[in-house]
Amino acid sequence: MSDRMGPALSEPIFNRVTIIGLGLIGSSIARAARRMNAAGEIVAADASEAVRARVLELGVADRAEASLADAVKDADLVVLCVPVGANGAVAEAMGPHLKPGCIVSDVGSVKSAVVAAVAPHLPAGVGFVPAHPVAGTEHSGPDAGFAALFLGRWCILTPPEGADPEHVAKVQTFWRAIGSNVEVMTPSHHDLVLAITSHVPHLIAYNIVGTAADLEEVTQSEVIKFSAGGFRDFTRIAASDPTMWRDIFLHNKDAVLEMLGRFNEDLAALQRMIRWGDGDGLFELFTRTRAIRRGIIEQGQETAAPDFGRRDAAGQ
Ligand code: NAP
Repeated sequence: MSDRMGPALSEPIFNRVTIIGLGLIGSSIARAARRMNAAGEIVAADASEAVRARVLELGVADRAEASLADAVKDADLVVLCVPVGANGAVAEAMGPHLKPGCIVSDVGSVKSAVVAAVAPHLPAGVGFVPAHPVAGTEHSGPDAGFAALFLGRWCILTPPEGADPEHVAKVQTFWRAIGSNVEVMTPSHHDLVLAITSHVPHLIAYNIVGTAADLEEVTQSEVIKFSAGGFRDFTRIAASDPTMWRDIFLHNKDAVLEMLGRFNEDLAALQRMIRWGDGDGLFELFTRTRAIRRGIIEQGQETAAPDFGRRDAAGQ
């Protein structure tokens, strides 16, 4: 896989990188940073003793700490990789122990709420460049991570107003080094874009799988047996981590409700087309949506493989 990730850097971008939360995303960043020599030293912080032991066993970090104070001491980059709702408390606990010049970043799937929760706890002289790697799987924990997770995927940076451009550039260099394409936008625009591209689709998947599970006229065994008819692909999304997704909906409420409003209107229009036998309307919509999928494949964000490209993206 190293050939796919390109050659390692001759000099690290940051001397000491601390990663807080060694789940899917945190452990993937650690693996990729190590593979690409983007960090001189990688320090892991995780509350779970079992996770700390596993992280050392996997060799994805040089040290694993239970104490946030010990973990962030002398760090040049600290990346928060915990559920969206946990960022504020983590920032409050680590804030006083950050050295001047340190840059704090995160990977949360929601940005405005994370900026509001974290920024007040960062001392003067510490930079803040929030990030969201738009890459993931439905799996969690340190064993689920892999170095090529971010390869060819987008990472969105949402620096708050007044952020130091040098800090933004350095975080950008880091994400590019571990394989990502980088785009910069405001936190609120990020939240609106992700509401329609990620959050509402997940809600629809959770809803349809929940509805099927509650049906009385169709048995559970029939739902599983005939799942290849389309349902199966929703079940993959609906298997995503409950804590992570609970936090996303609680912290991106306005944008999700706005997009759901539009979705409901369009669904009502579709309902009408079916009721009135408007085949042309249905055909026209399905033709447009097919073109969108072709565009995603052409831009390298998906493969045409029927497993949705997951196996290939994971490099497994
Ligand atoms: P994960 O595999 O479940 O890992 C979550 C990590 O956060 C674990 O190390 C966990 O610690 C720690 N944690 C949980 N609750 C905490 C708390 N209250 N305080 C401190 N640490 C806590 O999750 P993940 O998929 O890596 O997601 C982490 C972040 O990445 C989330 O903010 C999510 O929005 C974002 N993200 C996820 C994806 C995706 O597809 N999964 C994609 C892009 C961004 P323990 O080991 O002690 O449980």
